[in-house]
This record gives sequence, structure tokens and C-alpha cells, in this order.
Amino acid sequence: MTTLSDTQMLIGSQFVSGTEAAETVLNPKTEETLIELPEASADQIDAAVNAAEAAFAHWSRTTPAERSSLLLKLADAIEKEAEGFATLEALNCGKPRHAVLNDEMPAVVDCFRFFAGAVRTQHGMVAGEYLAGHTSMIRRDPVGVVASIAPWNYPLMMAAWKLAPALAGGNTVIIKPSEQTPLTMLKLAKLIADIFPEGVVNVVVGRGESVGSTLINHPKVSMISLTGDIATGKKVLAAATKTVKRTHLELGGKAPVVVFDDADIDAVVEGVKIFGYYNAGQDCTAACRIYAQDKVYEKLVADLASAASSLRFNQADDGDNDIGPLISARQRARVASFVERASEINHIEIATGGKVSGGKGFFYEPTVVAGALQSDEIVRREVFGPVVSVTRFSDVDEAVSWANDSDYGLASSVWTKDVGRGMATAARLQYGCTWVNCHFMLVSEMPHGGLKQSGYGKDLSAYALEDYTVVRHVMVKNG
Ligand code: NAD
Repeated sequence: MTTLSDTQMLIGSQFVSGTEAAETVLNPKTEETLIELPEASADQIDAAVNAAEAAFAHWSRTTPAERSSLLLKLADAIEKEAEGFATLEALNCGKPRHAVLNDEMPAVVDCFRFFAGAVRTQHGMVAGEYLAGHTSMIRRDPVGVVASIAPWNYPLMMAAWKLAPALAGGNTVIIKPSEQTPLTMLKLAKLIADIFPEGVVNVVVGRGESVGSTLINHPKVSMISLTGDIATGKKVLAAATKTVKRTHLELGGKAPVVVFDDADIDAVVEGVKIFGYYNAGQDCTAACRIYAQDKVYEKLVADLASAASSLRFNQADDGDNDIGPLISARQRARVASFVERASEINHIEIATGGKVSGGKGFFYEPTVVAGALQSDEIVRREVFGPVVSVTRFSDVDEAVSWANDSDYGLASSVWTKDVGRGMATAARLQYGCTWVNCHFMLVSEMPHGGLKQSGYGKDLSAYALEDYTVVRHVMVKNG
């Protein structure tokens, strides 16, 4: 078993181990056990919520400048330890370490820096007399104690997306990482404890149905922020009704990629090769559902199959890997079963991949499923693996109606050399984000979040700060 240093939860100012049954945390590349991590008990979760509630009294009254300076300190501390974080994240998620170090770590650091700045520039409506003799003003105040529940695909980045706006807004937090990938959050807890006052951030670990469920049902929690599955989102909503909690839900995705005849096909293939398979496709914005217009369909399928088959994985030297394995045997079996069912359909061709990779590790071959129809399961359901479907379309109305014909509404892209067509199509897509001639480009200043069953509420950007604060009216009787 690898020796790991930061393995305890943070409750108030104390680092403690869970007292309930242990969860096995695996290295998905080797299938080896990294650690057996005991999960939090109901009493420990209660203590974490109480610590957050106690800390709220002081933290909610700090100035934006004070909160900003601590967020900047945290960003600096993470940046200083970026190598260690990247090693740990790669170990626990199986993703190539260079991808974590070069892509994810700068984004994590920037997220904290962005919210450190954003909270100091918030401003609102004018104050004035809307009733004679009374002055009204609008305040933006913190919500209270926030329970944040994170998924396994980008553990540290999701922690940053949840913690930074919540803390900047003056809330206190209990965060639960995924039981499959808790390690970088536990390391982050060490840095947080050195910088933030006691109880402002608490970290508990354990399974969703035990620890997560206890946390989201806690009466002192005012807001629940979840990134996860639609089914989990529905449980959050059910829990929220009991004490009317606020909710912020980032659920799944099934991003359509609309490729018109005039698109630069090499750019499409390069874009999908990277952003259809990034993180082994375990990405809610993955470019996984291509609609290709008649004239470019054949070339796109052939070129994409060739590009996908060139993606490297499971190489001895991690520096040579483009992608890693799936997170677990269960996730790999789920992905494989989608492709298996698709391959039994007559009109479908598995243009490349479609197999579990032999040997140790939860690897699955980068796969292109060609000839898929709008009604096929592979086009409709989130696979969350290295699998891209390609569907042929003939005109823009068909492409737009198929792209929008989905339970999901997170991300989408349009590829065309005609700027007008790109703009017009983007305007018709019912997605939280539409990229034109690119895909998966995230920046801290711009919002990320879905429509429909992909959830609601924004991560990143000033909109996230709005989501983690409440609008209040204060009226003063003049004289
Ligand atoms: P999941 O819903 O199974 O788990 C997410 C988190 O919820 C985990 O921490 C889990 O322990 C917790 N959880 C599970 N059941 C719970 C319950 N009953 N009560 C409270 N907490 C509970 O999702 P996952 O498998 O970890 O992540 C993959 C999913 O997340 C995919 O559907 C993916 O699309 C989605 N996702 C969405 C975004 C986004 O920004 N929209 C980003 C990343 C992942």
C-alpha cells in the first residue's frame, strides 16, 4: 500500500479519522488499494455542521478584503504544492500526471484568485427613497452553512469551484469529496487549516448514501451544492424540501457537437480527439455526441476513428499517456455495456475501439460509434467514458432539433466557417454553454452550468458569487 500523509478529516480545528466502516480507495491504473479510509459517523458530521455554524457568526462579518487575502494565500499555497497535488490526483484518478499539473492545477489556483478578486468588485443597485421618507438599499449577504458534495472526475478542481465562491461570499462549508477520490481534498484540508479560521471549512469523507445523505438532510445546512449524477441531484432536491434549503446542482451532460459541411474537418477531428476523450471521457462537457452534415460525414468518421485510435494510454512512461483508465471496474463495465448494446444494432458501426483493454487497470479503448440515430441509447444517455457517437444530418433545423432533443443541457459546440451560421445556431441551442469552432474552453470569468436535467446554478464567474449569496433589502426610516 502506498504511504499517504494527509488522510484525516477536518472538523473545526481538529484532524480526525472517521469512526465508521472503511471505504477502499483504489489506484484505477493498477487496481491496487491506496488506503482503507474510515468514513465519518453521524456524530462527526453533526460536529462538522456545528463547527461551520459557529464559525459563520464571525466569518460572515469579515470584509471582502479579509476573505480575499485568505483566498489569495490559499491559492499561493496550492501553487507551491502543485507538484504534490498533481502526483496525488494522478494516483487516485489514474489520469496522466502531466494533464493534472499543466491543465488542472493552474485552473484550480486561478479559481481561488478569481473569486478573491471578484468579491471585492461586487456592486449593486443604487440606494434611494422608493417610499417617501424611507431609504432602501440592497445587500448581498452569505447564505449560511453550505454542504458541498463533489464528484470523482476532477476532485480538486470541483473542490475549488465549490469552496472559492462559497468562502468569498462569506459562507462556511462542509465539503464531502467522492468516496472514490478523497485524497487531494484531504491534502487541501491541511493547507486550509493553516490559513482559515477554525470551522470555516470542514471536510468529511464517506459514501453518498451514508455521509452525503446525513449531511444534506442536516437541519442546520442552509444550502446544498452538488456536482454529480441526475439521480443524486433528485435526492438533494428531496432533502432540501424538509427545511427549504437552497440548492446548486451541476449534474450530467451529453454535449452535442454540430459539424456543418463547411467546417474545418481537421480542426473538428483535433478538437474531438482532445475534448471527446479528455479524462477518458469522464467529463460532463465531453464532446461525445457528434452531428455531422451529409457531405463531411464519411470523412469525419474515418478521420476521427484514426485519431481516436492514436490516443495513447496505459504506457509504462506516464508522460506518454494521453488518457488514463476509467475510475472503477463498475464504471468500465457500465461504459462497455453501452457500447455492447450499440454494437448489436444493425445500422451502427464501431469505427474504432469498443473493447476493454486487457491487463490491470480499468482501461477502455477510445471508441467511435458511427451511424448512430437520434433514437439510439448511445445518443441519448450519458456514457461518461471514452466513447463518441456520430450521427448524420442533412439540414440545420434537423441538427438543432436533434441537438436540443436531450434531457441534458450543459454544453454544446458548433463548427462552421460561416460566422453568421455559427452565431445563429448557437442562439438556438438550449445549453448552458455553446462554443463555436472549439469545445471545452473554460475560464474563471465565464459561467459553467446547465439547463434542463443538467441542473441549475453556475460555477465560476461572478454568477457563482451571486448563487452563493442572497439579496436582502434594508429600509431605513429617514429622520
Ligand atoms: P454521483 O452523483 O454518484 O456522486 C457525486 C457525489 O455525490 C459523491 O460525492 C457521492 O458520494 C455523492 N452522493 C451520492 N449519493 C448521494 C446521496 N444519496 N446523498 C448525498 N450525496 C450523495 O456522481 P459521480 O459518479 O461521482 O460523478 C459523475 C457524475 O457527475 C456524472 O453524471 C457527471 O456528468 C456529473 N458531473 C457533472 C459536472 C457538472 O459540472 N455538471 C461535473 C462533473 C461531474
